[in-house]
Amino acid sequence: MTKQTLSFQAEVAQLLHLVTHSLYSNKEIFLRELISNASDACDKLRFEAINDGGLYENDSELKVKVTFDKDAKTLTITDNGIGMSAQEAIDHLGTIAKSGTKDFVSKLSGDQKADSQLIGQFGVGFYSGFIVADKISVESRRAGMKTSEGVRWVSGGSGDFEVEAIERAERGTSVTLHLREDALDYAQAWKVKNIINKYSDHISLPILMEKEEWKDGELINPSDEAGGRQPGGMVKTGEWETVNKASAIWSRPKKDISAEQYDEFYKQISHDFEAPLAHTHNRVEGSTEYTQLLYIPGKAPMDLWNRDKKGGLKLYVKRVFIMDDAEALLPTYLRFVKGVVDSADLPLNVSRELLQESRDVKAIREGCTKRVLGMLEDLAKHDKVGETSTDGVTDVLSAEDKAEAEKNAGKYTKFYAEFGAVLKEGLGEDFANKERLCKLLRFASTSSDAATVGFADYKARMKEGQEAIYYITADTLAAAKNSPQLEVFKKKGIEVLLMTDRVDEWALNFVQEFDGTPLQSVAKGAVDLGSLQDEAEKKAAEEAAETFKPLLAKLKEALKDKAEDVRITTRLVDSPACLVVQDHGMSTQLARMLKQAGQAAPEVKPVLEVNAEHPLVKKLEGSVHFNDLAHILFDQALLAEGGMPADPAAYVKRVNALLV
Ligand code: ADP
Repeated sequence: MTKQTLSFQAEVAQLLHLVTHSLYSNKEIFLRELISNASDACDKLRFEAINDGGLYENDSELKVKVTFDKDAKTLTITDNGIGMSAQEAIDHLGTIAKSGTKDFVSKLSGDQKADSQLIGQFGVGFYSGFIVADKISVESRRAGMKTSEGVRWVSGGSGDFEVEAIERAERGTSVTLHLREDALDYAQAWKVKNIINKYSDHISLPILMEKEEWKDGELINPSDEAGGRQPGGMVKTGEWETVNKASAIWSRPKKDISAEQYDEFYKQISHDFEAPLAHTHNRVEGSTEYTQLLYIPGKAPMDLWNRDKKGGLKLYVKRVFIMDDAEALLPTYLRFVKGVVDSADLPLNVSRELLQESRDVKAIREGCTKRVLGMLEDLAKHDKVGETSTDGVTDVLSAEDKAEAEKNAGKYTKFYAEFGAVLKEGLGEDFANKERLCKLLRFASTSSDAATVGFADYKARMKEGQEAIYYITADTLAAAKNSPQLEVFKKKGIEVLLMTDRVDEWALNFVQEFDGTPLQSVAKGAVDLGSLQDEAEKKAAEEAAETFKPLLAKLKEALKDKAEDVRITTRLVDSPACLVVQDHGMSTQLARMLKQAGQAAPEVKPVLEVNAEHPLVKKLEGSVHFNDLAHILFDQALLAEGGMPADPAAYVKRVNALLV
């Protein structure tokens, strides 16, 4: 074949113009693209060689070499992969075969900013070389073809390219970039190594570079890689070194990876010094193929509470690094998870915008969520060693299982202390997994100060005849524990969950029941202990309500600006009164939180419940200070639950008047 000049397909010419102009601020990606092509070419050879071993031509060690020539101002990427025939070079490097190319190009507006976003959704691949090069020369020979059937393809990246036949001994492809004046940096070893390190460390092929040495140079500033030494500069030594790790840990079989290696990788990607609590590593096959390696950290980062901070996983496409913090791969409430997803289906130049819309990403996200919940369930299951199961029989463990159990004991409690509150956000965010999330929740309770009680534990301990899971929300554990609303529950020995996380109040909006048992706030609605109350108690309550009718009416009148209603209650034992809200009303605690956060909260008028047995209430009837006492009763009930009287000075005045 004699030298011929051919034109690029019209779309390619447009794309080339765009690439060189709009990806200008992100130059270094060209190396990732070219190394990725080299790696693909090796993958293809490996695949074809399955049926035709001769294609290896006695050289089956697939690799990529990166070389440069400072004087010629060139950078060359060479692979010994499948290579290209002359026709393939014409077809593959002169046209874009991808479906939708025309469509894509027609969308381009000529507005650089808008176009550069668009281009992120479309693989620019080989053409990205023109970001840094004003001429690219490709030499190649397809595996299995004669050495006289090599091809040279040369282009300056505008309208056309040249092709000619050449003699080429080596199989595979060399791509030589003639660097633009403003891209001469890329002819320096340290710069190139850095980029390889950043993007291609996990390419499983070795990437080789020729070792260099300083010639007659004295070390002036060791921290300055490039400018630290003087005259002769760097000279090549003729030895080659592998500059990447050449093996993606997640692409290796599980059995070949030690626990230490898993931990090391976690530390590398998370910048955490501590080992993670757990990891999961899986290859998922089916309509969407990907590998996931996910970790649960042992400690919360400083910025965990910032929901705007990008959490998320590292995304690789076929072992080529695409982006950090790909938040589309996990829901926000799992933003503490670290790890890698390597997809076989996404395009290399996938953008964040595209991730949000991709169906593959949706499948990956669901898969990752399930795996993380699975990991947490596992940790929860092994949190306590030798725990007595609900049927009263302690599992008998083998020595090996026992050692394993001891290793895992306490991990879930540790996890929960760090991330439990974040996990609860999932109740409002991930309805599909609500049930699984509910099982993972832990709270303090009237029988445990530590947040270790799950709904299932609670249910197992419920009293005969108890029909609800009782809970109370408060600002602090002390406030919750001492709340007057708990008095009757304490008296009857009924456990109440104590919820003190700021998100509890909000999260519980999404949980009406657990495993068929309704959740009931002890601060909402009239207390209904159902069959926990005996007949005598019920009768006494009804009688009291009757006897105190006139008093209740008077109280209601005195407090009409503050209380929605006033009624007799059986929930109090020691305290004279407490405040509750209507069954479906917003709790006073939530209303207070909203106000503190500067948000508009509807005015909640609580119900004042009074204890007919209390001396103060008994004395109220005939008192000359009735009005003052009524207000004090109300304000004290407010104070007892951590609130503040609307007019504190008036409250103090009233109390003092009585004291005097
Ligand atoms: P993509 O890699 O996304 O298909 P590119 O523009 O990067 O798009 O490359 C176009 C085609 O050129 C590739 O599909 C491949 O057939 C061919 N090609 C590119 N680089 C090489 C290489 N190093 N060895 C063999 N073929 C290559």
